[in-house]
Amino acid sequence: MSSQHEIPSYLTPQGIGPWAVYLEQIDRVTPYLGSLARWVETLKRPKRILIVDVPIERDDGTIAHFEGYRVQHNTSRGPGKGGVRFHQDVTLSEVMALSAWMTVKNAAVNVPYGGAKGGIRLDPRLLSQAELQRVTRRYTSEIGIIIGPNKDIPAPDVNTNEQVMAWMMDTYSMNEGSTSSGVVTGKPISLGGSLGRREATGRGVFVVGCEAATRIGMEIKGARIAVQGFGNVGSISARLFVEAGARVVAVQDHQSTVYAEAGLDVLALQEHVREHGGVGGFPGGEHISDRSRFWSVDCDILIPAALEQQITEQNAGQITAKIVIEGANGPTMPAADDILHDKGVLVVPDVIANAGGVTVSYFEWVQDFSSFFWTEDEINLRLTRIMREAFAGVWQLATEKKVSLRTAAFIVGCTRVLQAREMRGLYP
Ligand code: GLU
Repeated sequence: MSSQHEIPSYLTPQGIGPWAVYLEQIDRVTPYLGSLARWVETLKRPKRILIVDVPIERDDGTIAHFEGYRVQHNTSRGPGKGGVRFHQDVTLSEVMALSAWMTVKNAAVNVPYGGAKGGIRLDPRLLSQAELQRVTRRYTSEIGIIIGPNKDIPAPDVNTNEQVMAWMMDTYSMNEGSTSSGVVTGKPISLGGSLGRREATGRGVFVVGCEAATRIGMEIKGARIAVQGFGNVGSISARLFVEAGARVVAVQDHQSTVYAEAGLDVLALQEHVREHGGVGGFPGGEHISDRSRFWSVDCDILIPAALEQQITEQNAGQITAKIVIEGANGPTMPAADDILHDKGVLVVPDVIANAGGVTVSYFEWVQDFSSFFWTEDEINLRLTRIMREAFAGVWQLATEKKVSLRTAAFIVGCTRVLQAREMRGLYP
């Protein structure tokens, strides 16, 4: 897939992974960039990559080392912005791709940020809370040389949460000598967090899902939904769709695939996941042992809200949904994108679909700077407005240029980034 690209020396050809998916997406948008295509190489190289060793003392007295990353893909439109992921399979290629998708996402919804992402290669289930805190603090100190409220602002992502953000904010502040609440977003409300931030990504998924449904004449009431991943994004979007009259017929996570023709009780499922760490053993549905059957479940809307590279050339043909809303980053492979397009499935791409999180992160950052906090209604109203406008712009462009919503979102995002790049010029 990536053979025509110059592979950076720090990625082996075998390990190029999600970064190759991103590069292919950039190739697909390049013909639509006009004279800005002169600058497109900018998007194919992260601005800055920091790899850090994160040593901690385990509770049993031994020393453990973890690999940590912070990648600042682009800062043409503003400081770097993007989450931090804790996962045993985190790789540099993955963090690079995630940082680049943040660049495109932030530009596509027009928040004044570049793109960045971080990660630590560890399985948080194998660490105690005290160990997790030590890893977080050491990682924050290590990347402290490149982050800051005006430089690069981390946030939650897979397996990180408000508590992790509180430790990051505290560590950075201690090192700086003064409280710096704007250095991370997704903080607890009591530390300068924003109302509505926790639900924001799921709410954004719901808002664009409704917009997409309206465009193709689908009713949300009675719609059948399948969700992959039941973390922050999957569970909250599922709940909002159910409140709007849809039924969630299938949920898959790392533990199990659970199905209920009449619809799952998503609140009970959320409670079960809180207690057991996954949907495995949930009594309110039938558990399907063959994981691959999830993709052929009869549904109207499919929400991949777990990890990258889930919808592939192998399973795309089985998807029955008319709309796919990408709650996850990078869940669809380029070859699968083509299959879905040929089948007439509408794919609302990650860079729009899951942008609600970073949009409310932006609100949080603005509130921290002004030390003036908005009501939840104000936040949800502004979030909904931004998501709808971004979706409408992308929809119109896709119609005009006869391209997929992904290519249209990339045209909008990459054009904004490269316009800024060109206007700023090269220095020195
Ligand atoms: N991790 C989220 C994302 O992938 C949010 C990033 C942020 O709020 O900065 O968009």
